[in-house]
Amino acid sequence: MISARTSTESASKDRSAFRRCFYPDVSAREWNDWRWQLRNRIRDLEGLERIFPLTDDERAAVLRRQGALPVGFTPYYASLISRDDPADPIRKTMIPVQAEFVRSSGEMDDPLGEDPRSPVPGLVHTYPDKVLFLVTDFCATYCRYCTRSRLVGAGEYLPDRALWEQALAYIREHREVRDVLLSGGDPLILSDERLEWLLARLHEIPHVEFLRIGTKIPAVMPQRITAGLVKMLKKYHPLFFSIHFTHPAELTPETARACARLADAGIPLGSQTVLLAGVNDHPAVMKALMLGLLKMRVKPYYLHQCDAVAGSAHFRTPISTGKDIIRSLHGFTTGYAVPTYMLDAPGGGGKVPLSPDYIEGREGDTVLVRNHEGSKYRYVDGGENV
Ligand SMILES: *Cc1c(COP(=O)(O)O)cnc(C)c1O
Repeated sequence: MISARTSTESASKDRSAFRRCFYPDVSAREWNDWRWQLRNRIRDLEGLERIFPLTDDERAAVLRRQGALPVGFTPYYASLISRDDPADPIRKTMIPVQAEFVRSSGEMDDPLGEDPRSPVPGLVHTYPDKVLFLVTDFCATYCRYCTRSRLVGAGEYLPDRALWEQALAYIREHREVRDVLLSGGDPLILSDERLEWLLARLHEIPHVEFLRIGTKIPAVMPQRITAGLVKMLKKYHPLFFSIHFTHPAELTPETARACARLADAGIPLGSQTVLLAGVNDHPAVMKALMLGLLKMRVKPYYLHQCDAVAGSAHFRTPISTGKDIIRSLHGFTTGYAVPTYMLDAPGGGGKVPLSPDYIEGREGDTVLVRNHEGSKYRYVDGGENV
């Protein structure tokens, strides 16, 4: 299970073997074209079975699919998945199983209460000075645990300037908004031209001082990070990226190159990882991922407790698992490699940090702390409470 496949060179060779085996008529040039990757996504039973021997459970789940969240992932991402191992970590996040149709207690279609916090279509305004701008419902790959499975992939919220204009008007009118986070769906599935149109409109609003793009593309379709895209993006600084990473197997030479291009353009890169049972809920796997990201100049930003979206029970771990993982990192490796563990409070409460507590208690003016090794220390503190 601790298949931290980080030996990138052999992974790269595996990939061209994969292409020659399953896409014999496709040239390396086509394979490396993101539009080819997008057009040739694996989207149905036939596409899956051409590559993967499915289990009965997987096949039944694909046939039974109902609701908004389609199956879909790029041939590139498929090449990272084991064909014979149904327990392969990335496979579990991409190929559905029937547990997805079980609705458990506390689960919701809109776990973060985004819909009631949406003043205009596509905009979520939960916090005072920042907004989340969902620019499309389309993604290059559909994660089975997606918190927005109620809307992504439905093909109803296509990139549309008339809709975007409503969101832009709201941001222009609300001068307290100084930070706009573009997400979706994935903003990087837009063409360079459309994305630039949006970034330019936002950039010219005087009170918007900070732009971010939330994306999974560098992990699932790194071919998208072209020299042309990056040249355009760097005109809109300060622009940060939050990149969704799940497992060290994603840290391929292709992804390393994509991150290097972005970092070289001065774009600070942060990662977001969802803690997932049987996928990355082991300290060794998480450490390999966090340290691998640092090498690619990606700062681990958030480790998310998996949201209680309908059909996600098989992915969710207890909070104690996440705390143990943070404890296994803090003090034992580079501080930059330790993300903040976050729970997005159900119903729109916003993000709540779930950091393990290193404070043991208080004796008069003295605070008792325990370090990463478990030893106790005393600190004389001026305050009343901790
Ligand atoms: C996560 C989120 C943000 C960004 O939060 P940061 O903690 O600043 O990264 C903004 N708006 C909404 C609605 C969010 O869910």
